[in-house]
Amino acid sequence: MKAFVQTAVGSYEERDLERPVPGPGEVVLRMRAALTCGTDVKLLKRGHARIALPVTMGHEVCGDVAAVGEGVAGWKPGDRAVPGVSGPCGACDDCSAGRANLCAAAHSDRMWGAFAEFARVPAGVVAANLHRVPAGLEDEVAAFVDPLASVLHGWNRLRAPSGRLLLYGSGALGFLWAAVAAGRGLDVIVAGRRPERAPLAAIYGARYLDLAREGVDSLAGRGGAAPDLAVDCTGDRLVWERLAGLVRPGGQVLLFGGCAPGTLVGFDAARLHYAEITLSGSFHYTPDEARAALDALASGAVDPRPLVSGRGTLADLPRFLEAQARGDGVRYAVRGDA
Ligand SMILES: [Zn+2]
Ligand SMILES: [Zn+2]
Repeated sequence: MKAFVQTAVGSYEERDLERPVPGPGEVVLRMRAALTCGTDVKLLKRGHARIALPVTMGHEVCGDVAAVGEGVAGWKPGDRAVPGVSGPCGACDDCSAGRANLCAAAHSDRMWGAFAEFARVPAGVVAANLHRVPAGLEDEVAAFVDPLASVLHGWNRLRAPSGRLLLYGSGALGFLWAAVAAGRGLDVIVAGRRPERAPLAAIYGARYLDLAREGVDSLAGRGGAAPDLAVDCTGDRLVWERLAGLVRPGGQVLLFGGCAPGTLVGFDAARLHYAEITLSGSFHYTPDEARAALDALASGAVDPRPLVSGRGTLADLPRFLEAQARGDGVRYAVRGDA
């Protein structure tokens, strides 16, 4: 089968690989649609401590079950499915406490390898985080379960969210955040450096703040109050540091975008203390949040289609990844050839 494999930090190639055979508890999906994601570009550029190379790239996928391993119940060839990236064990302390997103076992064998004709789904994912796609839901829309579930997890990390929300970063995640938060009644501002994306903010019920022209510090004076909540969607240390100074006293900052490994961040202690600013991390999502994401996509509560800047087949992937790295286009959808 055709597959795109990252061979080293900074390089990848198209390879002709053996089609995966499902082990016990596993299934193999035939890819119908896979999405490019900033994470793919990040991994290509700097690698990842927990992902051994070479690795078949891509992780946001919708496919048909092509083969079923021993002991798998409830799935048969032809079923359309979308997997979460992790398969929580359901038994460890984190899983028992409702933090299945942090389950260590779940992250030891992840669902990876969407940029190929076929992809193996690990047994843990089949057992806990593989979801049936409702009839009528488009493949590329269903493939948005992974990023949307991350947003829903971030939302669940906030304490009684209401009022004004600042989303810092105008990538796909920023807009998915806008869709969720505006849909739930918040007054949403997307701050970014790509004014051509202002219409996307409007589609998702948010206002766009052009950081190239206007400083984010102007927010505090604009229309009265400073934001109640701020979410980093950049993974940039300087943005993390800055957001604590932008929310109102008693405000919350969600550190949603992941910074590079080894990053150290500094905060003004007086600001955190005397203004009682809450800083929260947010990582990944639980199977329940993946299910909720699929429901939101199926009901149309969140429509990610305006975020797809181009569509093609696996052969188009190199040009899509280059465009994604340049920030040219938000997301690209690759379709299975069959
Ligand atoms: Zn992703
Ligand atoms: Zn667990």
